[in-house]
Amino acid sequence: MESKRVLITGAAGFLGSHLCDLFIKKGYEVVGMDNLITGDLSNIAHLFKLKNFEFYNHDVSKFVHISGKLDYILHFASPASPIDYLKIPIQTLKVGSLGIHNLLGLAKSKNARILIASTSEVYGDPSVNPQPESYWGNVNPVGPRGVYDEAKRFQEAITMAYHTFHGLETRIVRIFNTYGPRMRLNDGRVLPAFIGQALRGEDLTIFGDGSQTRSFCYVEDLIEGIYKLLLSDYAFPVNIGNPDEITIGQFAEEIIELTGTDQKVVYKDLPQDDPKQRRPDILKAKELLNWEPKITRAEGLKLTYEYFKSLTKEQLEKIDH
Ligand code: NAD
Ligand code: UDP
Repeated sequence: MESKRVLITGAAGFLGSHLCDLFIKKGYEVVGMDNLITGDLSNIAHLFKLKNFEFYNHDVSKFVHISGKLDYILHFASPASPIDYLKIPIQTLKVGSLGIHNLLGLAKSKNARILIASTSEVYGDPSVNPQPESYWGNVNPVGPRGVYDEAKRFQEAITMAYHTFHGLETRIVRIFNTYGPRMRLNDGRVLPAFIGQALRGEDLTIFGDGSQTRSFCYVEDLIEGIYKLLLSDYAFPVNIGNPDEITIGQFAEEIIELTGTDQKVVYKDLPQDDPKQRRPDILKAKELLNWEPKITRAEGLKLTYEYFKSLTKEQLEKIDH
């Protein structure tokens, strides 16, 4: 039987590269696309020698052309960490608007099913906890995070419009904080920030008083959930995340214990509009996809720390500049 062909945008990033690995393992032909604005080719270097992997260095906010058939498109291209999208706000808005428009057009022309990476940020600073998909959110459109949150909300809206008006097969995954190997130590997200500080012998920086909460999902669990959603027949958004909620203060303590560092915590200003609480309601994923996370935070943190420790000095410097 002819193998299926999938386009993955953001292929050189943290999640995109893990998706490439999964589809390769399952025998798909994988086309990766990335402009390397926040990603790194080293995440997919091991795939270049394979004959069922192709890669295009291309900005998806510009016209996207792929020759040959496509069965699936997974749109993961977008700056994702707060320091990235604050540094490149216009590109973030463009990939979430022009980029998705290009990819929906491509999906329509190829008669392909498209899955888009949305985010728990569509809930903004939520006033309900946990957040079910039916919650409309609390987003400040003109605040600093608006460039990301509103791009993702637009992305969901245009995807639903293509589904409704063109009958395109679409899937929307709302991803909650995910961690694991291939995160960049300097990407500003809390886990690489804390582990990087512990490795360098610096104090761990807690923003605000550390009472804000997040719920961290190990990358392998997330990727499995995304695959199940892609193959499902459900077009509305589905939360994928780990509901095990923790305060950032407690999280810092866990990282101190994990790494055995002698460092302490120091407190810095809380960034504007930083959500106070976040925890996915995953009832839908359980019922529709028979999915729930399997890897505990203790296991996932250990695996992630092992990864960072296994990097050579040169590699660490490269992802910690
Ligand atoms: P990442 O920064 O590691 O990966 C994003 C990739 O997209 C990078 O390789 C980058 O170079 C590429 N990219 C950005 N703009 C592009 C463009 N215009 N054209 C082509 N490539 C472009 O981030 P990630 O954590 O892997 O996130 C991937 C996706 O998942 C994003 O859409 C993000 O919004 C979403 N997401 C991630 C998380 C998380 O916890 N990691 C949570 C919610 C949503
Ligand atoms: N955070 C922190 N110290 C850091 C980096 C982040 O206390 O060095 C906090 C941040 O303010 C937020 C939480 O950790 O409350 C998660 O931040 P991250 O950027 O990882 O994800 P997001 O805010 O997008 O969920």
